[in-house]
Amino acid sequence: MMLMGKSTVLLKFKLHKRTIRLCLGACIAILAPILAWIVAPCFCDDPMTIINRRTPVRTFYDINGQVIHMEPTYDFQWRFDIPLEDVSPFAIRAILDTEDTRFFQHGGVDYRSTIRAACQNLFHRKIVSGASTISMQLVSISKPRKRSYWNKILQATEARRLEQLHSKDEILQAYLNHLPFGGKIYGIQAASQAYFGVNASQLNRSEATLLAGIPQRPNAFKPDKYLQRARKRQITVLNLMRRNNSIAQDELIDIIKNEPLRMTKDRSYYPIAPKINPIHTHFINLARQEAQNSLHINCAIDTQATHLIHKALVDQLNKLPDVNDAAAVLIHNSSRQCRAIIGTVDFSNPIDGQVNAATAIRSAGSTLKPFIFLESMDAGLITADTILNDAKINFSGYAPGNYDGQYSGKIRAAEALAFSLNTPAVNLLKQITTQRMIRKLNEIDLVSSRINHANHGLALALGTVGHSLLNLTNAYSTIPNQGFFQKATFINQSNNSPISIAFSRPATQLITQILTSRELPQATFPIAWKTGTSTGNHDAWCIAFTPEYTIGIWVGNKNGKPSASLVGATAAIPPAVHALQAIYKNSFPKPWEYDQQLLPLNKICAESGLAPTPACKKIKLAQTLLNVPLAHCKKCTRFTKQQQITILSPKHNTYLTEDDEPVTLNLEANLKDVIWFIDGQFIGTLPNGSTHDFTPGRHTITAVDPNHNAKSHKISFAVDQLVLED
Ligand SMILES: [Zn+2]
Repeated sequence: MMLMGKSTVLLKFKLHKRTIRLCLGACIAILAPILAWIVAPCFCDDPMTIINRRTPVRTFYDINGQVIHMEPTYDFQWRFDIPLEDVSPFAIRAILDTEDTRFFQHGGVDYRSTIRAACQNLFHRKIVSGASTISMQLVSISKPRKRSYWNKILQATEARRLEQLHSKDEILQAYLNHLPFGGKIYGIQAASQAYFGVNASQLNRSEATLLAGIPQRPNAFKPDKYLQRARKRQITVLNLMRRNNSIAQDELIDIIKNEPLRMTKDRSYYPIAPKINPIHTHFINLARQEAQNSLHINCAIDTQATHLIHKALVDQLNKLPDVNDAAAVLIHNSSRQCRAIIGTVDFSNPIDGQVNAATAIRSAGSTLKPFIFLESMDAGLITADTILNDAKINFSGYAPGNYDGQYSGKIRAAEALAFSLNTPAVNLLKQITTQRMIRKLNEIDLVSSRINHANHGLALALGTVGHSLLNLTNAYSTIPNQGFFQKATFINQSNNSPISIAFSRPATQLITQILTSRELPQATFPIAWKTGTSTGNHDAWCIAFTPEYTIGIWVGNKNGKPSASLVGATAAIPPAVHALQAIYKNSFPKPWEYDQQLLPLNKICAESGLAPTPACKKIKLAQTLLNVPLAHCKKCTRFTKQQQITILSPKHNTYLTEDDEPVTLNLEANLKDVIWFIDGQFIGTLPNGSTHDFTPGRHTITAVDPNHNAKSHKISFAVDQLVLED
């Protein structure tokens, strides 16, 4: 009995242990997946980061806010990112009723519809319903996977992660912006634009419900191709809305019967993007580089001015039979924004048509001269009235001549620049040195800092170093900007590039006066201008500016073929004038505002045009640069033989005295009333025959002409003590 009792207890205990184990096992089997389900999302990455990496279409606007170009995404999708509030609320309701009625109630997975879908799938023994919520669909858009139960679980887990990290509005907005609408059209804004030519906020109820049906089978319901199918699907959408009480029955009928679909007529592959005008292409390329990743690029381009300049170039080329191309740059001076870049006249030309001649490096002829004159003014070497010598020169074999082979002899600096004479410019460059000039040209982006001045030497003055039209035009806009240099921008925003002072305000004002002094042929208002012709007639240039704009024109052949007609004055001036006249058709340029205090009138030597010395005979008043000391005249300091003072007394010998007594001597010169210096001390103007006492020792006497007409005379003599012998 005892034994039996013992074994029963043991059995009971064993049974009990097994039950506990079974129960524990069952608990773990049930709880583990639940726990795994709960914690799994914590191990997922945020699917939104992949979504956010997909940049939408980039839109380019002109200065007036008009769209001039659109660029599809890197994978050639047409997709725009718009905020949720820019989507018609009716369209949002239609999409929610169609795709995910309980979107605002669930946390990424709709368990009610999942169970319903699971039953349907079991019944049909295959996946017929995915029960995908909007969050799950967004995950699927971010990471497309094959259809399987396991992938569905992964998708649901990531959808829950999405809901943990982002608000419902954020998820809905991303979903609406990435939904496929057939072909390359993604997102509700692109679909609204492509199919109905309206924004997503302007969709009517009929269009909204038609669009809401497309994402289920985007290519099958594409309304521009399969309108009947899409309409049929629209009825399904409307019925779903009716079932969810989003619309009433009579509203449903009203939508179908009375609301029109405003289908776009354009069936082109890019129904959204305006066709890019080829003459804007080079500008857009430069703006794209500057804007980097921006999606909305507000270009500084003035399309109207661009067309006017382009027309002026085309008209000019029609007159030049053996010249094929031209380029232009227009800069708005005060904002330092480019308003036009025309890199080619005919973009469709198979030979170099797409090459941007506005940024190509070419020999710029005389166009550099104003900068040499500016730098010479700031160095105090010249003012407008300084006399330069235009004559044959030869610096160790370098002997540049003038364009017409003529020399003007003595000429004012202002005229030497206005008439673009070569030898005065080369002489000035020699004085300021090529090293200094290259440093300055580098400051205004005209030469690279790596350039070796030894390779260019004085020929630099004649434009042997290459420059782009863009940089040259921008360097010129430093002049109307009172000497301030800044890189030009292609984006319509405040220009944040660094500003440097390249030239003084007085110098830029004086150069403007000089460059406006010769009237630009056919111009009806004052324009400052300078032309250039490269050696061998390869390139013709004209840079012109008003207070508001600086325009640069290049005319030539991109293959460098020379032509006798490629002369700056005849080939490049006409398009510059016609373009500026057209730009100012309805207005006049502001008058030039000259500040007379910057160029005060001062005495200069009329012979040299430099600061006078006492030797200068002819003096006149002329504009000088404020706070820039002008070099002194050296011309008038040389004296002729006749104009020399001779001290007649004392003589250049030895005088004797007794007993330390001073010797009284006459002071006499060949001129009357000279200034006397004795032993380096100023004595004053004394008439001839005046006397002076000299103590024993050596003495020096200098006689100076108070009018500086005659060279002074210096003598020395000694007064020795007479020693008497006993
Ligand atoms: Zn002088």
